[in-house]
Amino acid sequence: MTNTTVGLEELLMQRSLTDAQLQKAASAAANFRILPDATVIKIGGQSVIDRGRAAVYPLVDEIVAARKAHKLLIGTGAGTRARHLYSIAAGLGLPAGVLAQFGASVADQNAAMLGQLLAKHGICTVSGAGLSAVPLFLAEVHAVIFSGMPPYALWMRPPVEGVIPPYRTDAGCFLLAEQFGCKAMIFVKDEDGLYTANPKTSKKPTFIPKISVDEMKAKGLHDSIIEFPVLDLLQAATHVRQVQVINGLVPGNLTRALAGEHVGTIITAN
Ligand code: ADP
Ligand code: MG
Repeated sequence: MTNTTVGLEELLMQRSLTDAQLQKAASAAANFRILPDATVIKIGGQSVIDRGRAAVYPLVDEIVAARKAHKLLIGTGAGTRARHLYSIAAGLGLPAGVLAQFGASVADQNAAMLGQLLAKHGICTVSGAGLSAVPLFLAEVHAVIFSGMPPYALWMRPPVEGVIPPYRTDAGCFLLAEQFGCKAMIFVKDEDGLYTANPKTSKKPTFIPKISVDEMKAKGLHDSIIEFPVLDLLQAATHVRQVQVINGLVPGNLTRALAGEHVGTIITAN
């Protein structure tokens, strides 16, 4: 047998698992999407849920109406309480893996609160979003709520510097969308989308309706509206090749984005 016709099984027995030929053979199978009709929406922690009733109630109404036409995986951010925990824990010298668990507990709280608000519509919060009963919930009530923090816990990959967990709820929600091969990933936050600078601290930033990851990096915007590791995850993704960031404080935006309208900023893998 020549090198080019060696099968995957044989390669797996003989080579390092990062061998280039092995990698190629392992990605040869046709793409398969586990939940192709579902859309993941991430409800921001700091940007939305921390604002309480004024921000959350209108979104709940939109979600309830939207799920008639869409299947929704609703992930929660963590926000200000997590940042408070991070500041105390970092000051105590605790590592990223411990901080990750604190962050997760706050995202859990937000998922629990959203679950209470959506309970009367039959929409449940699941403790582990990694499938289990998720397909059943999607089939029956078209929506499910999950806690956005990826469950790396103590095994969180530490950052190059400091102890803030690099993969937080933006990454957790994106990874779920990509692994499940979902239709779309929408980040619901508190600005109209990406600007040339943070609109909270800069005077007259320009709105950017559409941008690629490379352009974002070239403009120095990689650490801005979404967690920057998400940009690399997006570039490496098979299924979810773009994400949309919308302002959830504007009524109707989520509904429009779900309908495929270009509201907010679309960030593309290339
Ligand atoms: P979440 O609540 O989902 O965690 P974040 O608060 O982390 O959301 O991220 C959204 C925030 O990012 C916005 O409120 C905004 O202040 C900030 N931000 C920083 N840089 C930018 C930028 N260039 N364009 C838009 N928003 C930005
Ligand atoms: Mg954030």
